[in-house]
Amino acid sequence: MDLLLGPKELAFRDEVRSFLDQHVTPDMQRAIELTTGFIVEPEVLIAFHRALHRKGWAVPHWPVEHGGTGWTPVERYIFDLECGRAGVPPYNTSGSHFVGPVIIHYGTPEQKAKYLPRIRAGEDFWAQGYSEPGSGSDLASLKTKAISDGDHYVVNGQKIWTSMGHHANRIFALVRTSSEGKRQEGITFVLIDMDTPGITVRPIIGSGGDHEFNEIFFNDARVPKANRLGEENKGWEVAKFLLEFERGGRVLAGQVRAQFTRLVRLVGAHANDDPEIRARLAEIGTDLDAMEMIDVSVLSTRQAGGNPGPISSLLKLRWSQIRQDIVELAMDAIGENALTWVPERPFYETLQLPPEEEELLAATPRYLNSRAFTIMGGTSEIQTNILAKTWLGL
Ligand SMILES: Cc1cc2nc3c(=O)[nH]c(=O)nc-3n(C[C@H](O)[C@H](O)[C@H](O)COP(=O)(O)OP(=O)(O)OC[C@H]3O[C@@H](n4cnc5c(N)ncnc54)[C@H](O)[C@@H]3O)c2cc1C
Repeated sequence: MDLLLGPKELAFRDEVRSFLDQHVTPDMQRAIELTTGFIVEPEVLIAFHRALHRKGWAVPHWPVEHGGTGWTPVERYIFDLECGRAGVPPYNTSGSHFVGPVIIHYGTPEQKAKYLPRIRAGEDFWAQGYSEPGSGSDLASLKTKAISDGDHYVVNGQKIWTSMGHHANRIFALVRTSSEGKRQEGITFVLIDMDTPGITVRPIIGSGGDHEFNEIFFNDARVPKANRLGEENKGWEVAKFLLEFERGGRVLAGQVRAQFTRLVRLVGAHANDDPEIRARLAEIGTDLDAMEMIDVSVLSTRQAGGNPGPISSLLKLRWSQIRQDIVELAMDAIGENALTWVPERPFYETLQLPPEEEELLAATPRYLNSRAFTIMGGTSEIQTNILAKTWLGL
């Protein structure tokens, strides 16, 4: 990739590297390495996010007037890649990558002033309240009701699969404000404080042993109408705008590269003489190179803060497959050693083993957790449907 970089970009890359050397501590790196779920615990990343904020780099992808860096697409690419190589994912993507850009696009001046600085500074942690039991792919069937009462909505219902909901102090949610006409036309997008009376969070433990998901119950929770994003009954448009950031929001490139680097190490240590494994490794590496190229070209065709459009479905589809290929090959490379998993251990807190052994213990929970990649943010089948409709006109 260095072939593409001129002297200015190389200097920028060195500046990023030196920042990362300074702020990515060994403890933090180890905690991230041993995270087997798909989200790193906020307490692990918050100090780094604050350092980024002090440097003015917390939300590079936002427009400059809201705290973005104004970097060129190549500079943003370099930054993502270097963060990936250093092993650090972004802090609370639901805030900085999902709802942040949507508040910038649809928010009132008051909403922008209230929420954006807190996302930048890492003071708020956001969760996403879209899915409900029975309303995942068919999101428009959602039933959580918001009844108008003066200048408030009274919200009743249930959300499910709410990632990191147990850490969130705010949640953006889709609620039903009308049952008339088309289902999509009765949905409203609201920003809710998690300490609102009437909200209960209940954990769901995933098959990999991680606590990432939750159920969230709303029981007569009063939400000010001032917290509505966009117009009443027009939340579907806001929701779709947000999903394009979720699916194509460039939060993955660096992370997947870091996972691949780990895989190369693992194959080298455990299956270096297996030609089939080596061939699969090369295939994944080639897919990864191709995806990085596509990703950066998508990035260069849009302005900071703009939404990616339907290509986000293609990115989501391929990134999730590549991530699953990586963990599947890791399992095959280490063979029966992958079965030495102790599920009740919260990995990053308790393990004090040599890194090679930790890597083996982490393989199975990583594999199990990765089943979710082709489901979260909309399943692969739904992405394929979107591509068929928008690109092929089917
Ligand atoms: C790791 C993870 C994190 C998540 N985090 C959140 C979160 O923070 N907030 C949130 O709101 N939600 C979250 N979700 C929920 C996620 O958005 C839903 O799981 C997803 O949209 C699928 O919905 P579902 O689980 O109800 O499955 P269903 O919609 O019931 O789908 C079941 C199966 O049927 C297939 N299917 C359904 N409809 C069609 C169709 N029209 N054509 C072809 N096949 C179809 C699906 O592809 C799937 O294979 C998360 C999910 C995961 C796995």
